[in-house]
Amino acid sequence: MQDTVLIVGSGPSGLSAAAQVAGAGYKVVMVEKEETLGGAPILSGYAKLVPSGEWAKDAIGRMVKRVEDDKAVTIHKGTRVTQLEGEPGNFTAKLSNNKQIKAGAVVLATGFTHFDSVNKPEWGFGTYPDVLTSTQMEQMVASGKIACPSDGRVPERVAILLCVGSRDRQIGREWCSKICCTVSANLAIEIKEMSPETDVFIYYMDIRTFGLYEDRFYWKSQEEFKTKFVKARIAEVTASGDGRLLVKGEDTLVKRPIVIPFDMVVHAIGMDPNQDNPEISKVFGVELEKHGFLQKGEQYTNTCGTSRPGVYSCGAAYGPETIDDSIAQGAAAGGRAVMDLAALVRKAG
Ligand SMILES: Cc1cc2nc3c(=O)[nH]c(=O)nc-3n(C[C@H](O)[C@H](O)[C@H](O)COP(=O)(O)OP(=O)(O)OC[C@H]3O[C@@H](n4cnc5c(N)ncnc54)[C@H](O)[C@@H]3O)c2cc1C
Ligand code: SF4
Repeated sequence: MQDTVLIVGSGPSGLSAAAQVAGAGYKVVMVEKEETLGGAPILSGYAKLVPSGEWAKDAIGRMVKRVEDDKAVTIHKGTRVTQLEGEPGNFTAKLSNNKQIKAGAVVLATGFTHFDSVNKPEWGFGTYPDVLTSTQMEQMVASGKIACPSDGRVPERVAILLCVGSRDRQIGREWCSKICCTVSANLAIEIKEMSPETDVFIYYMDIRTFGLYEDRFYWKSQEEFKTKFVKARIAEVTASGDGRLLVKGEDTLVKRPIVIPFDMVVHAIGMDPNQDNPEISKVFGVELEKHGFLQKGEQYTNTCGTSRPGVYSCGAAYGPETIDDSIAQGAAAGGRAVMDLAALVRKAG
């Protein structure tokens, strides 16, 4: 019986799973395809996280350090799993670095892929330099200066368009990405704090700042930081004659067409299934659900399960998820893995 858990992916959920497994006295082998640990918040250079308000590099950096400093954890960066054979308690995994790992359980913490805004060409990304994604805007905030990429001027007006690559059946994205309303309300606050002369408008279908985020982000952004929320259907983003951008669509509250000039437009991009999921499905022998995320095991009695016994999952691998919930699910997946290993040992002995 192996006392090692193989954890694939080192984002918030994988880091949390690793800490849980190591804390329970088991060994961890972590396999991460990139050269840097930390997942999307680190790889994409997020600014301050919701809801904590802490810089991503500090908050997730602490999680990375906790795992890197733990002698029970062996880390393979720039590496993938190419084959998994065996059964609960006794798996053998082959890695792309030609190493072979023995593990009793596997946790797939392989997360998501950011929606690529070029798949929404009518909204100007890739055509106009002042149309950015929310990850690019987060990087701009983290760099400490808000400026139009085209000529470096401070923007007078910024539009944030919600649901880009989410809730859009025309392009096969039927899901809500869950966190982008809250992240965008927070982004508007950050822009205003750094550049008080900039006005921020948020164009939305619905606002889904769920739970306590309604007060902490939606109302705060609106009341304290004067973000203007406009319920609208956006048709296209084009260039105006004076070097600015025109956001065109319909104000769906007053049912009137709108054409509004902006200096910058930000796409609040959604969370796609990890583009590796077809390969992950084959290598690990796990099923995908209809949108392409990992299929959950039976909801109520197979916590963090997948369709293959002994292979667990957590976080955004299952579908759009917040960091807090990804961390909680990572801990649950790590706990489940070691609990099942302990049960196998009891049964054998
Ligand atoms: C613009 C934007 C801003 C956001 N801001 C916030 C916020 O402020 N607060 C919040 O709660 N949430 C936020 N989120 C959501 C947040 O990004 C996710 O909740 C979080 O990243 C999920 O963590 P995870 O570990 O499940 O997945 P990920 O962060 O995606 O990590 C997955 C890891 O697995 C690795 N991996 C993938 N495939 C493989 C493979 N085949 N082999 C090996 N390794 C692999 C990846 O390289 C990555 O390191 C934001 C999302 C977006 C799009
Ligand atoms: S969280 Fe908000 S912006 Fe994101 S997909 Fe859902 S409704 Fe759209």
